[in-house]
Formats: sequence, C-alpha cells, structure tokens
Amino acid sequence: MSFANPYNFVGIDEGNVQRETNWRSHEKLGEFNGMLTCEITFLSNFITENTDREKKPLTINGKLGIQASSLKGMLRSTAEAISNSCISMMSGKYRYRFMPRMPVGTSCSSKVKYTRIHDELGRDWLEFNQKSLVREEAFIDSCDDKKGLCICCRLFGTTAKEDPTTEKSFSYKGRIRLSDALFLGICEKNGNINKNINPVVVKYLHRHLSNPKNHHEAFYLDGNKIKGRKFYYHHNDDKLQDSGQIKVDLVKKEAVFKFTISFENLTSTEYALLLTTLELQPGLGHKIGMGKPLGLGSCVIEITEIKEFRQERYLSINKCAEKVFKNDELNRRKDEIKKWRTSEIPQDLRCILKISPGFTEIRYPIKDIRNSHRDEFSRYKKLHPPCREFSPDDKGSGRTITYSEQKKSERPGKSRPEGLGSMAEALKKAKKK
Ligand SMILES: [Zn+2]
Repeated sequence: MSFANPYNFVGIDEGNVQRETNWRSHEKLGEFNGMLTCEITFLSNFITENTDREKKPLTINGKLGIQASSLKGMLRSTAEAISNSCISMMSGKYRYRFMPRMPVGTSCSSKVKYTRIHDELGRDWLEFNQKSLVREEAFIDSCDDKKGLCICCRLFGTTAKEDPTTEKSFSYKGRIRLSDALFLGICEKNGNINKNINPVVVKYLHRHLSNPKNHHEAFYLDGNKIKGRKFYYHHNDDKLQDSGQIKVDLVKKEAVFKFTISFENLTSTEYALLLTTLELQPGLGHKIGMGKPLGLGSCVIEITEIKEFRQERYLSINKCAEKVFKNDELNRRKDEIKKWRTSEIPQDLRCILKISPGFTEIRYPIKDIRNSHRDEFSRYKKLHPPCREFSPDDKGSGRTITYSEQKKSERPGKSRPEGLGSMAEALKKAKKK
C-alpha cells in the first residue's frame, strides 16, 4: 500500500532573495496603517506549543488562547516560502538527540560533518552546521542593515547576530504586531459559533509528542544541499492513539479563536503578502502547534474586518481618517490588496498545504534495520515529490527537480486571488478539494 511521508519541502531559490537596502528611507516606508481582525478555525484537534508541565492548554487572562508568538512563527514560515525570503529558523548549528548507531563524522554522500556532543545534563546530541547545506551562505545569514532586509524581515522583524568586527548587533521590530488569539467558540455546521461548548478533550498517549525524529539525509538533502523549507501535510484524521499513560488536553477541531494584527507603514507588496499568507487560497490550510506529523493543528484563517487609518490631506497632522471594511466591501478590498502581488504561491507549497491531499495514508516510513524487506527507509532512496505519495520511482537515486527548473515549467501569467467568503463557505470549499 502506498503512503506519503508526513513532511515535504518547498524548493528554495537561494540566489534570488530580494533584499531592500534603503528600507528605512521615507519613500520606502509604505502608506498603509491599520488593523486586521482575524478568526482561526481548526479543521483538526490541536495542542498549543506552550502547554505547561501538566500539558494543560494555554490560558490568557482565564481564557483559552494561542500565544501571539506561535501564530507569528507559523505565519512567518509560510510567508517566507511564498516570497522566497531568507530562512529565519535556519542559521548556525542544528542538533538532534543522538540515537544508537547514528553515524558520526563526515558523511560520504553529503560531506556534512556530524559531531557527537555531550551536554551538561548528560544527554547526547548529534550536531552539524547548517551553513554547509546551502549553496550560498548569505542565504541563511540573517538580514541586517548592511545586506538589507527581505520582505519577511521587514514585516516580522529580525535580530542579526553580532558582527565579530564591530561587536554590534542589529535588530528591527518589524511592521506588524500580532495579539494572542482568544477562544470564541465551536463552529457549528450552520456556521454559527457556539460559545457554550467545552473545547477541551482529554486523551492518553503512549509517548510525548515532542519526540524528535531523526534527521534522514536522503530525505532532507538533494545531493549535499538542503532540499528546501519543511512543511507538514494535512491529514483527514489525526492518528493519536488514546490508550497510553500520558495525559494531554487537546483543543477540539472546529474551535474558533480570534486575534488582531496591527500594521504600520506597509508598502502595497508587503500588505499583499500579509493578506495572501493569512488567507492562502481556498483548499489550503495552515498548521500550528504540536503533533503536526500525526495530523494535529490544521486550521484556516479568515480576515473578518480590515481597518485602515489614512492621513487625510485636509485633516491636521494628528488626525487620521479611519476606514472600516466589512461584508461585501471587505471582500472587494481583500481581492484588491491580494492582486498587488504578481506571483503565485509556489507550487510545492500549494501541494503540501492542501487540506485534502488525497493520499492513501500519511506516515513515516518504517525503520527496521534487521529486516531489509520491511525497512522502507532502505527501499525508498529519496523522498517523493510534494504533489504525490511514494511510488516505485523513488526507489532509485535519481536527481530531484530544482526550484528554478520547476519555475520554468510552471505556466506564466498572473493569478487572480480568490475571495474566501464566510467561514462556513471556506470550510465547505476546503473540504471539497
Ligand atoms: Zn530576511
């Protein structure tokens, strides 16, 4: 029976990160200021990343919530993939827990140097330098004042490491601020939000969800370079087995949370990227929280109100005209803003973020070093492409298509961003695809 790996990669175009060097100057500061009100609706159960020791979901002022930093992290990695920005999460050394029989030293195939590290708590780690995995080091070097800022660093902010020659560090707080998301209710079939349902369910798991998976070179690398940005597929149902000893509180699917994003000095391109990232396209969804490989944390975001503050010519300097977009006007405004982006969401990302990818099964390959017939890691020498599950083609050690080759094969032309409509409509569309 065929299956798909829980994650895949969105190709990167290392030589083509657009950085703005005079991003501070007056003419580079955009004209858009305001606030977006958003609703996030879960299509699967989820566990917030910031659960405490007792695995209780996060509460903010007594209300169930999702921390702004989790939302920001999720949105940023998606925005980075959409806009081919620098990878903020990938700089310097990377380590994962050392397991018996893990190879230490320089890998013959990738030439990556793996070192075994023993930390002060007595744990063993396997460490390698991520810079060895990219063709151009500048690609994963954080954006800074000198190099300029990519669109994601301008939106979400950045902290660049200290410059060893001047011992100066650089940080920029970005042009958007997210609030924490607070629980609104459970979205019922008719689209109404019911505030009176307890959104928390208890399950007992066999093992902790934070168990790190081995870094599997054949899947992560194309030759000796990183394949791209990692994203997890959406599942039809989560695969949590409710029969272990570890108690976790899950937030039920169909839970709806509300948050706001305030923004200042956005250019039209930045504004368009923000909206495209939030609402994606019908049929695509985001993933947040723990247990992504098991199918937890699938969600869609809908912008329910746009408020723009405009400096009107006839008003005094401190007075701004406020324009609120709701209902039909809101949808028209969203379409208008999204059209300011001229490029499509990369095909790899569209494939991975499909709410119903249509795979037979989604799971990790079976590792069994004693039985080569059962060992799927040795059967599949490389990861399947983002748009399909494993096939006999993945058994060889063939070359994968690079980002630029794939780009050429895509049809040219602008995309017409589609409106998402009401949440009920979005869910319907999402489930159909
Ligand atoms: Zn950047």
